[in-house]
Amino acid sequence: MNFTKFPRRGYLQGQTPIEPMKNLSKALGGEVNLFIKRDDLLPGTSGGNKTRKLDFCIADAMEKGADTIITCGAIQSNHCRLTASWAAKEGLECHLVLEERVKGSYKEDASGNNFLFELLGVKTKRVVEAGSDMMAEMEKTLAELKAAGKKPYIVPGGASNPIGALGYAACAEEMMDQLNTMGLAIDHVIVPSGSAGTHAGMVVGMTGTNAGIPVSGVNVSRPKGPQEESVYALAEKTAELLDVKGGVAREDVVCYDEYVGPGYSVPSDAMVEAVKLFAGEEAILLDPVYTGKVAAGLIDLVRKGVFAKGSNVLFLHTGGSPALYAYLDTFRA
Ligand SMILES: *Cc1c(COP(=O)(O)O)cnc(C)c1O
Repeated sequence: MNFTKFPRRGYLQGQTPIEPMKNLSKALGGEVNLFIKRDDLLPGTSGGNKTRKLDFCIADAMEKGADTIITCGAIQSNHCRLTASWAAKEGLECHLVLEERVKGSYKEDASGNNFLFELLGVKTKRVVEAGSDMMAEMEKTLAELKAAGKKPYIVPGGASNPIGALGYAACAEEMMDQLNTMGLAIDHVIVPSGSAGTHAGMVVGMTGTNAGIPVSGVNVSRPKGPQEESVYALAEKTAELLDVKGGVAREDVVCYDEYVGPGYSVPSDAMVEAVKLFAGEEAILLDPVYTGKVAAGLIDLVRKGVFAKGSNVLFLHTGGSPALYAYLDTFRA
């Protein structure tokens, strides 16, 4: 794969570590060897997957002469936090449209990412109700800013367009380079599947490097069918942009939807257990909305014996720990 024809801002500063999780593997019975790729340690306030995507998206914005970034997300959005973070660093204005996916859940004075929006100097925040057309809402902001003489650029939710997904195609290549250097044969990779850019990018990158390692996504909101379709559609567009010959195979896009719990961002007992296990066994902080649920899926799949005895399974940690501080009641209950 050739990424050199796409502008990047150079946010990564090298490879994120791949580490064994020996304690957790043992706690889960010791039959499967668990590994983790630490994208929670990426640069940008508190780390996380959006840095890889924004490396490409912000570069595109700046190349097009933008001085202002508009993006959207849920009320505790890690994507909004990282967009605000890189915008601050680049000297760009940042405007957010926040979707209140759970009615009554937005609190102006909430901790977690909401607090960080303030600290990072976000210019405006507009909260809209669940199910709003987020692109149309961002376009309203775009029109206002243009009328005020700004040069605004829209980064879509989760930076999940083909340009952003390039970040995870590049991550797959980085991961394969590390595994080859380490001589570590991974049998299965588990990734989160939300706005789809991470999952789609990984599938494109694993195809483009001819890795031959299955990747499964664990959903955080949508059912299996629609999520697989949305990942596949984005993977196809990304493969085309990157010129990955033959595109991706539909059967390489696989999602599990059993771990969403009561709904997007709504806590589940399995999520709480996963967050506590990772903290207690590995001193790794997950988050309540994404990685806690994905890890709950990983744990359940290990317990159910889905992975063969002795197999090596790698979990992609995509960050999100600031959201923990908006969920104190859940973990103390
Ligand atoms: C956004 C996010 C995800 C999901 O990634 P997508 O590319 O949106 O599917 C997973 N984990 C964390 C912590 C995130 O912020």
